[in-house]
Amino acid sequence: MERQLIRRLFPSGKKHFLANVLDYSGANRLLRHWDSWSGLLVLNYHRIGDPLECEFDRNLFSASQENFEKQVRLFQSSADLITVDDLETVLKADRGKHILITFDDGYRDNYELAFPVLKACHATALFFIATSFIDSPRFAWWSEIAWMVRNAQVNTIPADKWFDAPLEIGEGYPSQAIGQAVRRYWSLQDDETDDYLSSLAQATGAGRCPPSLAENLRMSWEMIQEMHEASMGFGGHTVNHPILAQISASRQREEIVGCRDRLAEKLGTAPLSFGYPVGQAHMFTSETKQILQEAGYRFAFSFYGNHCKTSHQDWLDIPRCSIEYSLPRAILNSRLTIPQIFAKN
Ligand SMILES: [Zn+2]
Repeated sequence: MERQLIRRLFPSGKKHFLANVLDYSGANRLLRHWDSWSGLLVLNYHRIGDPLECEFDRNLFSASQENFEKQVRLFQSSADLITVDDLETVLKADRGKHILITFDDGYRDNYELAFPVLKACHATALFFIATSFIDSPRFAWWSEIAWMVRNAQVNTIPADKWFDAPLEIGEGYPSQAIGQAVRRYWSLQDDETDDYLSSLAQATGAGRCPPSLAENLRMSWEMIQEMHEASMGFGGHTVNHPILAQISASRQREEIVGCRDRLAEKLGTAPLSFGYPVGQAHMFTSETKQILQEAGYRFAFSFYGNHCKTSHQDWLDIPRCSIEYSLPRAILNSRLTIPQIFAKN
């Protein structure tokens, strides 16, 4: 018991230790009401619910429904929780603490679990949709990779064309191996991705994931339209969720414009916001930004940490930081009081 308490108070990471000091000393509670920062803190969620019930990538879960509600109320008491319509005003403001909630990829739990919470809290969020997954429900590459590794018939995948060292899958839920296999996909060129997935299907012995499992994974257009009518914001996230930096300019244009046109057709208005798929700094280029601008997008969100300071000029690279299921409460509290330190990845 004592050892557990000591470990809780003095965790190994320096940032976690500092967060605990701020939280247990009451400093976070005080700072919440002071101007300890100004600008826009954009938080990113993927899935809401219980990861243990999921057959795919459990790393994508951001919070249980109960914790999501606590978090939304915490944001409301810590800053101005803004809507997508406030974005321009907030980015031009020279003071104030603002928070925007975003969701990526259009999972069905966003409608079933997050939407009721947002309505109950009189809050909104911005949802980034990769349109082809709504039009024809199927697996995205990261879900299929997670499923194949999780259903592997082997404990190790030997080093091969794709992996410099053997991929250790091990027992239980192979979170680390899934992460490694997903990251390997990030580095592939467009014409290598199918080969990689086929090779992984064979090496794991799991085969390709049966498409029937994808049926209820995403929201339907009817759900999206209902949310849109209830003031939820929607933004583009491409048609097929490729890593934009890895594909040609003409393919990028198809993905960016195609997504814009499909959202405009279904929602009656063209999206002004865009979330870069995966969103790390090297996942999009200046050419991508140019295409976005030509397509009429005004705001584009990356995903490599940080908050957006008041002087932030580049509206096509608005930083976001992720909310993870295992994020310690003290770090979340500290992120809302000192994002200069705690919103960094
Ligand atoms: Zn995504």
